[in-house]
Amino acid sequence: MQVTGDLLELRKIRASMAGTFGLVPTMGALHEGHASLIRRAGAECDHVGVSVFVNPSQFGPGEDLGKYPRRIGPDLEMLERLGVAAVFTPAVQGMYPDGYQTWIAVEDITIPLEGKCRPGHFRGVATIVAKLFNAFRPDRAYFGQKDAQQAAVIRRMILDLNFPVEPVVCPTVREADGLAMSSRNAYLDPRERKAAAVLYRALAAARERYQKGEREGNTLRAVMRAVLDSEPLARPEYVSAAHPDTLREVRTIETGAGVLISLAVKIGETRLIDNMIL
Ligand code: AMP
Repeated sequence: MQVTGDLLELRKIRASMAGTFGLVPTMGALHEGHASLIRRAGAECDHVGVSVFVNPSQFGPGEDLGKYPRRIGPDLEMLERLGVAAVFTPAVQGMYPDGYQTWIAVEDITIPLEGKCRPGHFRGVATIVAKLFNAFRPDRAYFGQKDAQQAAVIRRMILDLNFPVEPVVCPTVREADGLAMSSRNAYLDPRERKAAAVLYRALAAARERYQKGEREGNTLRAVMRAVLDSEPLARPEYVSAAHPDTLREVRTIETGAGVLISLAVKIGETRLIDNMIL
């Protein structure tokens, strides 16, 4: 496994690799969710590259950039065990040197949901992913369904900017009680950790109603809100039942269209998100 924080060295490492290349962008503090993306990339590509970079431009003022978990030692051990070929660990100055002023703005689908709660977030995400595509020149790039809007934004950017990259979206990996794995789960104290399973319970309740034939967006949103209201530590930021492509809230789900149900909930000071496609 070759590890570098230097862009020119990464390009040399990459140029030495023949065959197909799969990229898994991460912010580190790696868990089984990340591992599932890396295993999938390994099964589908000749070489796998992983970036570990806590990208400041996707954090808003007052968000958790300063306290975001950083554990490069254990991360590298895990990446080695997973058979990763190249790891890129740039410094912030390397990615955003003095005078940096170029940004990618994906428009309509960044407006609702996460985009509304976290202004500027997707501008930071789209920009860093584009820069990582230029650095690694991957054939495929792997993302988690856990961040459904992020996956949609990147798919749109790939189409619009003609990146020769195939995006692959992998299922959300969950803890035994349904909580989606996340580096941010490390912030939860034991009481909050228990309460955090309410996100999954809310989604599962809406899924059950959908499976029984419910097609009204308002009803699905109300079902999720009722479950969240039963947990005193949970403070919802949004509860959504939206069209999976446009991410606009749905009134009545049309046959064959499907629906993306998603939520953002604060448990104490920790902001968690989760979703399901039905
Ligand atoms: P992050 O390090 O949180 O920026 O995540 C890096 C990638 O891993 C993103 O594409 C995430 O969507 C994906 N990911 C994070 N958590 C999970 C999970 N529990 N299951 C599947 N993918 C995940």
